Amino acid sequence: MDTRYDVIIIGAGPAGMTAAVYASRAGLKVCMLEKSAPGGKLIKTYEISNWPGVKESSGVDLAMQMFEHSTHFSAEYVYGDVINIIDGDIKQVECADGNIYSVKAIIIATGTNERLLNIENETKLTGKGVSYCAICDGAFFKNQEVTVIGGGNSALEESLYLTQFVSKVNLVIRKQEFRAEQEIQDKVYAHQKINIMKGYVPVKINAENDKVSEIVLEDVASKEQIIVPTKAIFPYIGSDPVTSFVKSLNISDAQGYILVDENMETSHKGIFSAGDVNQKKLRQVVTAASDGAIAAQSAFHYIKD
Ligand code: NDP
Repeated sequence: MDTRYDVIIIGAGPAGMTAAVYASRAGLKVCMLEKSAPGGKLIKTYEISNWPGVKESSGVDLAMQMFEHSTHFSAEYVYGDVINIIDGDIKQVECADGNIYSVKAIIIATGTNERLLNIENETKLTGKGVSYCAICDGAFFKNQEVTVIGGGNSALEESLYLTQFVSKVNLVIRKQEFRAEQEIQDKVYAHQKINIMKGYVPVKINAENDKVSEIVLEDVASKEQIIVPTKAIFPYIGSDPVTSFVKSLNISDAQGYILVDENMETSHKGIFSAGDVNQKKLRQVVTAASDGAIAAQSAFHYIKD
């Protein structure tokens, strides 16, 4: 049982890292537990142009700056895959490797995971042309045709990113209108390498030599199927909250998003939650950071009182 810390922050994305800055500056002993690289979704985002004070930055650069800042005031960054939380005056955070942390307060900042298309051959061909990270894998498809699925900010931004490598991006959406912000839509409509395909859903992925070679799309209106040659498929169809480890606490809505009050506190005293994992309307780096600051400040007052 590790009792060194006052607060455990679960997740080191923008919400968790901001919480670490605020909580450690307030004098708390803070540990950020993360099972992947720090940065959360930022490290999979090509360009950020809506973080105030920074007109443009790559997601990775901003993530690294945040990471350095988050550990600058004594917060520790530790590997940990949390599988359960047990509430009480002293709370326990259980990790998959058997480590148990005993703390006064917890801040959940685990964000979301990419949603799968759930179509034939998707899982089998993941890493063989199916990728959920254009930044990680886009450069492998130089001068080739690729396909992006989805009509939100992520799909459109990553389509624009891919145009610097590939010869053509087929951007497939199931409706007739995008969800993305107008500014990004305008860039996509104007880009000669992006072929917008409206009113189609993916139904199957075909392979040649164990690599993606085609995607089968179904016309939503006529139900007719077409085959589109493609070397890669990048699904960007939204995400789901990472909250399986809090099921026993009963603090999530039907979709799994965590419910909090204005202090970012859940219905369990001393357990706070921040960022994309929360039920909220606007999921942005800036709103995640704001949640993280509030959660840390609330955790400080909870411990002090
Ligand atoms: P969104 O939920 O905004 O968009 C998901 C898209 O995928 C929609 O076009 C949706 O279609 C489509 N879709 C969902 N399920 C399927 C399916 N099974 N088959 C085909 N298409 C499907 O997700 P994002 O990941 O783009 O964004 C998530 C949040 O993050 C948003 O709030 C967004 O604004 C934010 N974000 C902000 C950024 C920024 O500000 N720079 C960058 C990236 C994300 P339909 O519309 O028909 O439901």
